[in-house]
Amino acid sequence: MTTRSCPCGLPQAYDQCCGRYHLGAAAPTAEALMRSRYSAFVKRDEGYLLRTWHPRTRPARVEFDPGMRWTGLEILGTGDGSAFHTTGSVTFRASFRGGSLHERSRFERVAGAWVYVDGEFLDQ
Ligand SMILES: [Zn+2]
Repeated sequence: MTTRSCPCGLPQAYDQCCGRYHLGAAAPTAEALMRSRYSAFVKRDEGYLLRTWHPRTRPARVEFDPGMRWTGLEILGTGDGSAFHTTGSVTFRASFRGGSLHERSRFERVAGAWVYVDGEFLDQ
């Protein structure tokens, strides 16, 4: 994975996009957090995924399927989740070799920082 563009699909280089959040900058919106979590799955950054997971729903660890090859993220819609909100949702399709995941994820702020709460699958 080189730095042509960020794994999340935005045209910026990874270092100027999700990489900043992986290094500790706060994601300003639920969508930015969602994108950075997708990129963390691509890069298998378990520490980032766990610290951006709501303490109420956070698993003990994240299992990465070694055969999984993520191929793209498409944001289909957002609800709230801006700098002025404390909750938000992001509907997206995450593609991988052999299929895709269509999900609506819910996010909340904990101590000011956006975290992932849970998600529902919308179809196959
Ligand atoms: Zn990105």
